[in-house]
Amino acid sequence: MPKQPGENPTQEQVTAPNGVAWTRAPGGTTSGHQLLEALNGISGIYGDVPRRWNWWEEGRQRREHDRHMAVLEEWDNGAEELPPDESEARMKAWSDDFDKRYEEERRRRAQLAADTYDEERASQRLQYLRDTADAAFFGHVLRKPANAAQRDGAARREAEARASAAELLHTIGDPEQVIDKRGYLPSERRATNLGAHTDYWRHRLLREWSTKDRRQFNALLKMPPPSPDDMCSECEAPAEWHEYDISVRLFHPPPAPGSQAEKIAQLMPGWWERCPACTAYRIGHVWGGSHALPDFDGGQWVAMLPPLLRTLFTSEPPKARKKRAPKPKPLATIPPGPIDEVMARLAEAKAAHPDAEVRTGAGGVLELWNP
Ligand SMILES: [Zn+2]
Repeated sequence: MPKQPGENPTQEQVTAPNGVAWTRAPGGTTSGHQLLEALNGISGIYGDVPRRWNWWEEGRQRREHDRHMAVLEEWDNGAEELPPDESEARMKAWSDDFDKRYEEERRRRAQLAADTYDEERASQRLQYLRDTADAAFFGHVLRKPANAAQRDGAARREAEARASAAELLHTIGDPEQVIDKRGYLPSERRATNLGAHTDYWRHRLLREWSTKDRRQFNALLKMPPPSPDDMCSECEAPAEWHEYDISVRLFHPPPAPGSQAEKIAQLMPGWWERCPACTAYRIGHVWGGSHALPDFDGGQWVAMLPPLLRTLFTSEPPKARKKRAPKPKPLATIPPGPIDEVMARLAEAKAAHPDAEVRTGAGGVLELWNP
């Protein structure tokens, strides 16, 4: 095996990037390169989304963990071996410290929210995101409008949405600095949402589709991992999906029974499930009247989706039934019979089809075919 950086095969020692020297235990067979890979792998196994993006199979993350641990167990970094009691005490101290830091962080966030959360500004930011998604939605319609009335309507609505977004931006300032009521910035929520998208949406669907729908499975498997910046800060969908009225709200319980929200949800299907940063077009469309673009329908929506979204969120179009080629027929047939009769009919057939080839068909019938 070629020598890897940081590896010294004669002493079976490797120095990790953090300066810790590791020595391979007698009988160990793994290389220094494998050790460095395991150290790197184990540290990011639960946090690195691109790495676990395609670990959709049941138990895959645990298997990756076990694989790295099996390598690490062959190496010793000279850390002091503690007696069981002391080891337990250290674990408890570590766990207590973790709890303490967690509680401090929770308090810090709560204080930050108490000091800086502004409900109106947060609501304006959501309206700004909706306007931006609306403008993009109408822009997609404008690429292939169904008719002139629809084109004019979409152009007007796109301009209105852009103007509203610009005005809100002026009022809000930097939307990235608008904290939520739990004390989190949009960028922090996007990173969390990407992790949830991967573990609870992508992996679940890949498991489901691996046995049910290879078309959707293959399309989703090919989807490249988004960067945290690509995500919506309010739900578990990439922000671009909101331009097509697609939301992914994984942790959004149904409205409380008897609540006003429940009544609205019944009146406007899709309203409760929609992310507050998503285009509101569908709500307006269902509402009808001037909210709906002239002649816009589901078929047009499907046609304007990018291929990946079309595969993931719409059912497969019914396959056009293959037209079966008509069964070839002979030019003429002559049933078996007395020789004179057959000869006479053959002569007639020859006159009509001088180039035909004579074959024998089922039941002794003579058939004339194009050669
Ligand atoms: Zn969203």
